Amino acid sequence: MQIVTVVNCPLCHSTEHKIYAVLDHRELRICFECKHLFAGKFDKQRMQKVYNEEYHGSEKDMVDWNLRNNNVWEGLCRNIKKYLEGKGVRLLDMGAGTGGFALKIKERYPEVALTLIENSYFAKIFLKNNIKDAAIYGDLFELESAMDSGKFDVITILQTLEHLENPKEICENLYGILKNGGILLLTVPNRKSYKVLFNGINDGLCFSNQTHIHFFDRAGMKKMLLDCGFSKVKRVVQLGGSNHDRLMSFFQWILRLLGFSTENRFVAIK
Ligand SMILES: [Zn+2]
Repeated sequence: MQIVTVVNCPLCHSTEHKIYAVLDHRELRICFECKHLFAGKFDKQRMQKVYNEEYHGSEKDMVDWNLRNNNVWEGLCRNIKKYLEGKGVRLLDMGAGTGGFALKIKERYPEVALTLIENSYFAKIFLKNNIKDAAIYGDLFELESAMDSGKFDVITILQTLEHLENPKEICENLYGILKNGGILLLTVPNRKSYKVLFNGINDGLCFSNQTHIHFFDRAGMKKMLLDCGFSKVKRVVQLGGSNHDRLMSFFQWILRLLGFSTENRFVAIK
């Protein structure tokens, strides 16, 4: 066991927070000041074990996963289409995973120069073998140390921020390496989704994932990104871009409109 205890709220640094729920190895706390919900106590070793088991799939599983989610990658590209079409576009994908999104960018916009950050050993090997011309780093610190003066036009951080210990610090750093007028595309699980509404902390997606240590809602995320310096933050509500058929996609769109979808998606402009 390697228990981490968080004293200050990771978003507003307040020490005033109280227990919200106790889940598996995580004790969730809610901040009085900014209402952020976070794991105030968790077992890092247990989390690492879950990561290792998740990523120990064969290379075939990674290929299948990328193919299975093809519509999701297509949808994400559509969200930021106009920013990908220019000349000499530089894109950083933080938390690239098995590279499904990066491969889709390569397919649709071969001119875009890709930089990827991924800390899983197995996923990183897969990325190196499958996206030969991408620059790949283990974490943001490694990238910043190797970085020339060239900043990025587009930064994406998809279903990643909820896993990181200091999400605000990460967003501030990403803001720092983004060009003026550049954009950040960010997706996180929605702590106020219809699944959470029906099933509470046994929702199966947001709270149930043992590697999640932050739980965002719309207002909290918007405020955090504005506090990081972004001039404009827009929530993206898209029809389609998922693995559902047409009727289910329509219902999903309604949920997205109302703010009850399982994921919240934002575009922030520097
Ligand atoms: Zn707070």
